[in-house]
Amino acid sequence: MADTGCRMPEIGQTQVADTQTTVPRASEVFDLAVIASGVVVAVIAIVRMGVPETDFLVGLGAVPLIMLIARFPLVLDQRGKGIEVGFDSAILMFLLCGRQPAEAVVLWGLGVVGTQLISGKRGWLQLFNCGLSITGAGLAAVVLVRARGELIPPSDTTLRELGAVVLAAAVYFALDFLVSGISVALEAGSPLMEHLTQPGTVLAISCFVPFDSLGYLGAMMHRELPSWSLLLLAVPLLTLLVATRSITRASENSRRLTVLFEAAVRAQTLSDARQVMDALVDDAKRLLRLDKVKVRAAPPSAHEIGARLSDGQQNRWIVAPRRHRARSTDEADQRALEAMVAVSSDAFARLRLTDDMTHLARHDLLTDLPNRGLLLDRVEHAVHLSRRRNTELALLFIDLDGFKPVNDRFGHAAGDEVLIDVAARLTDCVRDSDTVARLGGDEFAILLEDVRSTEVDAACLRILNALSSGAQVAGHTLTLSASIGVAFGEPEDTSESLLRNADLAMYEAKARGKNQFVTYEGALGQTRLERLELVEALRNAVGEGQLSLVYQPIVRVSTGRITGVEALARWTSNGQSISPDVFIKIAEESGLVVALGELVLRQAADDSSRMVEAAGGTLNVSVNISAQQLREPSFVETVRRTSEHMGDAQLVLEITERDVVGDDAVSKEAMNDIVALGVPFAIDDFGVGFSSIGYLQDMPVKTIKTDLSFSEAIDRDERSCALLYSITMMGQALGLDVVIEGIERTTQLDHLREHVGAPFGQGYLMHRPMTLDALVRVLLEGRTERATAHDVAASG
Ligand code: C2E
Ligand code: CA
Ligand code: CA
Repeated sequence: MADTGCRMPEIGQTQVADTQTTVPRASEVFDLAVIASGVVVAVIAIVRMGVPETDFLVGLGAVPLIMLIARFPLVLDQRGKGIEVGFDSAILMFLLCGRQPAEAVVLWGLGVVGTQLISGKRGWLQLFNCGLSITGAGLAAVVLVRARGELIPPSDTTLRELGAVVLAAAVYFALDFLVSGISVALEAGSPLMEHLTQPGTVLAISCFVPFDSLGYLGAMMHRELPSWSLLLLAVPLLTLLVATRSITRASENSRRLTVLFEAAVRAQTLSDARQVMDALVDDAKRLLRLDKVKVRAAPPSAHEIGARLSDGQQNRWIVAPRRHRARSTDEADQRALEAMVAVSSDAFARLRLTDDMTHLARHDLLTDLPNRGLLLDRVEHAVHLSRRRNTELALLFIDLDGFKPVNDRFGHAAGDEVLIDVAARLTDCVRDSDTVARLGGDEFAILLEDVRSTEVDAACLRILNALSSGAQVAGHTLTLSASIGVAFGEPEDTSESLLRNADLAMYEAKARGKNQFVTYEGALGQTRLERLELVEALRNAVGEGQLSLVYQPIVRVSTGRITGVEALARWTSNGQSISPDVFIKIAEESGLVVALGELVLRQAADDSSRMVEAAGGTLNVSVNISAQQLREPSFVETVRRTSEHMGDAQLVLEITERDVVGDDAVSKEAMNDIVALGVPFAIDDFGVGFSSIGYLQDMPVKTIKTDLSFSEAIDRDERSCALLYSITMMGQALGLDVVIEGIERTTQLDHLREHVGAPFGQGYLMHRPMTLDALVRVLLEGRTERATAHDVAASG
């Protein structure tokens, strides 16, 4: 028996040695000794053989046979370590039993060299294998000759000869096994026993016995029978070769399964794509026992096998050389590679999913900008960095001005489009390295790192400018603006404190008239805190019904007679009266306005009977409502109850022009339902919102109240007088009542009478807003005056 490739050519420790620059010296020396002894044995054999005879040429037929059988080794390995055992030693036994020993060793040597030359193994390994096989053959020859006691093979078959053959075969096997074990152990630096007691050793021994017996059997047949009878041995030889090959492949498959399983388990623990890719290449090398596994863009050539890899970004191939090996076929290699790729594809898919999830958790769904959490992280990081590098950083808090009505009027889908548009404009205003984030609603923030304050100012101006070019919404061109708060990072800042400061500055920008930016200074802190306290106080006031109403009369301009009153809410907090402009805005922003509105309606209804009684007849009672109330499902019912409760007073609802323009179907339906109840609407602050009057035609509206600003200068400025005149004319042409608000001076009233011709007016000149008691007195006075005037007229 013999060995064709004692040490594994492609895997395990040999591979490690391939990639290392320094092979341990002991193993080199050992291998060299084995090679040298092979050379010595070969030389001795050649010298002893002398000049070859013609019979030697016949013997050369053994060489291809050795090479053939050597391609069917039994591979003994687990986890990539181990040795392979060839059964070509059967031919060595055959030669030793039929020929002069030196000639047998030479023929064997030629077969071994041929085998190694076509093996494709490393040159060093080929030399080592040749050395070992030839040394083994020499030793076996010496043992055989000594044991059977004759140099030339006997012509009779004896029991002694059989014993000698068994001994020689055992020596050959033991030497082969031991020497390759030592070489592998030396190279790997691991204990020898580990290599000798591998699983499968027993199997190897039990395979070599039938093979070597076959060699001896062949020699006996050759001796006793005609040469052609040797052909009979082809059948058992073939059977044995097929059997060992299937054992080898089965053990290889089980090894591959182990590799795949381990790879699959490991893939679950990897946390980035680079690791998965490295593991894939490593595992594929282990799987195929090849070092030349590569990942590249080009598909495999005809000499390669490969599988397509998709890590989600680019398509690549993992490729390996195509090689004929005892253990496997190309098809099996291909399948194994595909299975390995499937394992990593799972890992890539899992990583992508985790990536997507972390992205979602850290970004705003609508605009895909970083969200508050991610922004705060970046700010935190930037604060540390700027402290270390001594650079400036600024945080911009951006709140769109008047965005709420966009949603209310055009619906949320349109509002979303505007926000996406705004996000894009903001991103265009800053450097790629700056972070633009959406904090929620119409609030954005921008982190500017490593900037000077002049650059921050410039960025703010760019932003205000970028927003000012109109946005298209549902066919309308909308002018956008924003209030920006700027906070510069201070060494003691945290991300939260910086954001809070920018937020405070933003509120200051709003308070100073919007569409501007304000830089945070310590003192701003007050405003926001006050505002928070106000919200709480207002909540309590609304809850406990602590708001009061005052009434401002609306008069017929021609006679001065009170035709109605407007209810105006009043609130005193901590002894300080808060302007309705302030607390109504707070109520709208905090959603309190719905409850506040109900309170006002109830109070106005309670008060109306006294007003009607004092007026001595019907009276319009106007109540201001906000857009939010219209969208409240219960609002129509509230209005119905209020209207019933008012008896002879006529409830009128005032709503600002901003709040009714647009196609908010819910509000429109509510307005129609309310009009159907017999409660008319008045458009408040008319003329400042959307300059087209056309929309009034399909609105259920009875009255328009011109904005205070129109009457402001009618006594001084001809154009404003003409404007008010045309608004009044158009309103009247549409069959609407027109109320001019803000009459403070007699000259204004005179102009109104002479040039505008509006039927109704409201203003401090005639009456200031007043308490119910005061109103009752005024109404009673008016009655008496009229009665007196009537009496005078009657008597006159
Ligand atoms: P508005 O509906 O336009 O109410 C008229 C405002 O003009 C009142 O201010 C009134 O006091 C003021 N005004 C009346 N005559 C004159 C005048 O000759 N010159 C000037 N400069 N001002 C005059 P007020 O009471 O401060 O209310 C401000 C705004 O608060 C109201 O404007 C209204 O929009 C809102 N508001 C008041 N009460 C309520 C309420 O109960 N609900 C709602 N939703 N809003 C309310
Ligand atoms: Ca009003
Ligand atoms: Ca008004």
